[in-house]
Amino acid sequence: MDRRSFLQTTAGLLGSGALLPSRGAPSGRPNIVVIVADDLGYMDLGVQGCRDIPTPNIDSLAAGGVRFTDGYVSCPVCSPTRAGLITGRYQQRFGHEFNPGPATAADANFGLPLTETTLADRMKSLGYSTGMVGKWHLGYRPELHPLKRGFDEFFGFLGGAHSYVNALADKANPILRGTEPVDEKEYLTDAFTREAAGFLNRRRKEPFFLYLTYNAVHGPMEPVDKYTSRFPSIAEPRRRTFAGMLAALDAGVGAVLKTLRDNGLEENTLIFFVSDNGGPTAGNTSRNDPLRGVKGQVLEGGIRVPFLMQWKARVPAGVVYRRPVIALDIFPTAVAAAGGKVPAEARLDGVNLLPYVAGKEKAAPHEALYWRFGQPAAIRQGDWKLLRQGEDAWQLYNLSEDVGEAKDLAAANPAKRKELEAAYEAWNRQLMAPRWGRPDRGRKQEKQPRVRRKDRAKA
Ligand code: CA
Repeated sequence: MDRRSFLQTTAGLLGSGALLPSRGAPSGRPNIVVIVADDLGYMDLGVQGCRDIPTPNIDSLAAGGVRFTDGYVSCPVCSPTRAGLITGRYQQRFGHEFNPGPATAADANFGLPLTETTLADRMKSLGYSTGMVGKWHLGYRPELHPLKRGFDEFFGFLGGAHSYVNALADKANPILRGTEPVDEKEYLTDAFTREAAGFLNRRRKEPFFLYLTYNAVHGPMEPVDKYTSRFPSIAEPRRRTFAGMLAALDAGVGAVLKTLRDNGLEENTLIFFVSDNGGPTAGNTSRNDPLRGVKGQVLEGGIRVPFLMQWKARVPAGVVYRRPVIALDIFPTAVAAAGGKVPAEARLDGVNLLPYVAGKEKAAPHEALYWRFGQPAAIRQGDWKLLRQGEDAWQLYNLSEDVGEAKDLAAANPAKRKELEAAYEAWNRQLMAPRWGRPDRGRKQEKQPRVRRKDRAKA
């Protein structure tokens, strides 16, 4: 066979999709899909232990890839977590420490600073098509719009929450296609799924990056018959509504996977699924068992989340990975998968997870993970976690024996407490003051963290 006919034959085989090997070298750079759920608790998936609400499509990512048991986000609330995820850096390094409050009441400084490079910017510079569907929550001003932060396409809303059934409910926070408000008629979770599938179909011939940020299962708790009617056995009305909202999210992930499969792209697409913070159990009936704490807290229930990854062409299936990882790792993992290199001056905090899940790297991906959310703060190093919920004293837990953070060992083990406090303070000294305050929703305002004088001047 001469070279030309070999290439034609190869192209024919690749084009058919069916004859691609299920493992081994993919035919080109992978597509990247990052799916973010909102306010989904640690135990809200079947694969995480949920028994009354099936989530077979999301669970399939764990079966086909990796489930991280100790997957974290960098903040226990929405916007700062997203700032960390989309930059690969602890968001307190650039002052993005708190949520903004609603569009009409947001601090004038609010938004992901223009000094930061987003994952979309990076993927675009690698030649990828970039699309975003869903909740942005990283700035309301025109220069902070997703189309100005590396995305070719945007469908969604800029705020922190949205009605699922009334597109025009909040005039300050409309559903947008690009920059134009649209009167969306479909249930919002289904509309986001439709738009995601549309992007995948339009861009199927190019390497693409899709950032799909469902606002499900964040409030408002709005039942929709199409999904809630599947759960007649759940008697409690709010839990039944939650079940419907979660079923819509799971159906959405299923439709995204089917669209990839129908285009022959599932094997060579790197997919992440994470929640942006732990469940606000009282707010939406979500569950964080066996963890203690909820959204807004640096206890495990606020920051440890469902965290899944699938890339069938390259990553083994059915892996359960138990060392701590964090959503900051998504950025460098995606760039490495695409064959790119992050320059050292970008100073990422995340690491490329691919060698770890493949078993090539045996050490822990991170020496320690850190959290600062105003006064509440925490560090996890190995099995040890030191945390401070407010102005109270530091608490110390050993998560290998006490995942529910019930037995404070700070008094019994002062040496470990001091060691972790010193490590935390060394990290804390690298951070700047928050660029805007914590939105006051009738609660007592948090004290600002201690910050060095020269950083205070920068902020
Ligand atoms: Ca959230």
